[in-house]
Amino acid sequence: IDFMKKTVNAYFLQGLRNQLVALLKEKGITDEKVLEAIRAIPRHYFLDSAFSKIAYEDRAFPIDADQTISQPYTVAFQSQLLKIKKGDKVLEIGTGSMYQTAILAALGAKVYTIERQKLLFEKTTAFKNVFGDEFPDVYFSFGDGFEGLPEFAPFDKIIITAAAPKVPEKLWEQLKVKGIMVIPLDESENAQRMLRLTKKKDGLAKRESFEQFSFVPMLQGKSQS
Ligand code: SAH
Repeated sequence: IDFMKKTVNAYFLQGLRNQLVALLKEKGITDEKVLEAIRAIPRHYFLDSAFSKIAYEDRAFPIDADQTISQPYTVAFQSQLLKIKKGDKVLEIGTGSMYQTAILAALGAKVYTIERQKLLFEKTTAFKNVFGDEFPDVYFSFGDGFEGLPEFAPFDKIIITAAAPKVPEKLWEQLKVKGIMVIPLDESENAQRMLRLTKKKDGLAKRESFEQFSFVPMLQGKSQS
C-alpha cells in the first residue's frame, strides 16, 4: 500500500508539474529546455512539507529566515534569459530554497551558488543527499554575494535572485567577455526591472530590458540566522 501511495503521488505531482509547464507557456516562456527542466524538477522538495500540495502553483512561498522561494514564472524567465549551454559555469546569488539552483543544474550548468543566511546555507547539505548523484556539479557557499567567488571566476553566466540596488562591481569583474548577467535592478521600492547585461570586449555592457518583478532585497554582509 505504501508503494501504491508513492506511485499515485508521483503521478499526481507529475500531472501538476505538467499543468504548471502549460501555464508558463501561456505566460510566454518558450525555451523548451527550460520547460523540460521545470517538468523534471520536483519543486515540492524545496518547500516546507505544509506547502507540498500547492508547490506547483505559480507563486512564491515563504521559506526559512524570512526569505522566499521564487515564483516558477520568475525562475523560468531568468533561466530563459541566461541561455544556458551545457557545461556553462554559472554563479548564482541567493541560493534560498535551491529550486533555481536545481533548474540551472538540470540545464547542464556547473553551478556556484552563494547564500548569506546561515540557516539556509546549512540546509544545502540536503541537496547532496537527494540530487547529488544526478547533479554533482553544484557548489554551495556561505557568504556575501556582493563579493562573488573570485577563486572560481571567471563565469559564463551570473544570475542574481534578489533585488539589486545596482550592478555589483565585483560580480561584473567576475563575468567573462561575452558572458551574460541577469539581474533584477531596483526601479522603485517594490519593483525591479529585469535586465540582461552582456559583457562586450571593451568591458562595457550591452543592456536589454524586460518586465518588472518583485524580489526580496539583496543585502550586504552575512547573517548568522
Ligand atoms: N533562488 C532562490 C531565491 C530566494 S530569495 C530560490 O529559488 O529559492 C533570495 C535569496 O537571496 C534569499 O535567500 C536571500 O537570503 C539571498 N540573498 C540576499 N542578499 C544576498 C547576498 N548579498 N548574498 C547572497 N545571498 C543573498
